[in-house]
Amino acid sequence: MRYAILSDVHGNLEALEAILKALKKEGIDRYLFVGDAVGYGANPNECVEIIKSLADKAVAGNHDWGVLEKTPLDYFNPYAKEALKWTMEELKPENKEYLSQLPLVVEEKDFTIVHATLEKPEEWEYVYTTYEAHCNIQIQKTQVCFYGHSHIPIHFAENEHISFSRDPVVEIKENWKYFINIGSVGQPRDGDPRACCVIFDSEKKIVKYIREEYKISAAQEKIWKAGLPAILGERLAYGE
Ligand code: ZN
Repeated sequence: MRYAILSDVHGNLEALEAILKALKKEGIDRYLFVGDAVGYGANPNECVEIIKSLADKAVAGNHDWGVLEKTPLDYFNPYAKEALKWTMEELKPENKEYLSQLPLVVEEKDFTIVHATLEKPEEWEYVYTTYEAHCNIQIQKTQVCFYGHSHIPIHFAENEHISFSRDPVVEIKENWKYFINIGSVGQPRDGDPRACCVIFDSEKKIVKYIREEYKISAAQEKIWKAGLPAILGERLAYGE
C-alpha cells in the first residue's frame, strides 16, 4: 500500500494543489491527513473540501479545533488568533461540521496518525527533543507514527537508543520504532518554502519526503487581499 500523508495545509490552496499534482505521478492508494486544514491561509473552504474528498482517514489539528472553539482562542498567538477569527466567519457550516467530527488519533495496522502527541493529543504539545519523541514512542502501538504541528520535517528512530535525522528518505527497519514529522504543506517552517508531505510505502518499508514548489506569490496576494495579518503572507516566501 502506498500512502500519501499530508499535514498543516492551513488554507493554502496553491500549495495543496501543487503537491497533489506531484503526487498524481506516484501511484498513491490512500491519502491520510494529519490536521490543520485551516488557519493562516485565505482558502479554508477549498482546502477542507479537497481534504474531505481525498483523505479516507484524517485527524484534527489545533487550528481545526480553534475555529470550532474546542481549543480556546487565547491558546493561540495574536496572528493565529486573528486568522482564526477570520476563518470562523469564512468557513461554511458543512465544512465546520466535517472538522468537528474528526478524531484526534487514528490507529491502523500499518500506522498511527496524530497532529501533536499521543499522550495528550488535545493539549497540542510540541515534540522537539529526543526525550519528547521517546515519551511518544513509549505509548505508540504501531511501528510507525506520523505527526505534524511544528511544521518541521524530522524523524526519530528508536530501538535501544533514540536518534533523529532529517534525511529525505527513511528506511523502516525491523525492531525499530519511528515517530515521523511529515512537515507542512501550506506553511513550511524549516527554511525551505516548498510544500512538504511524505509517501509511505508499507510493503517496501520506506518513507520518502516530497518537496514541491508552488506559486507563493498567489497565496500571498490572497492573504493580503483578505486583510489577514501581512506577516502570514510574508513568511511563506522564507519557509519560516
Ligand atoms: Zn499547523
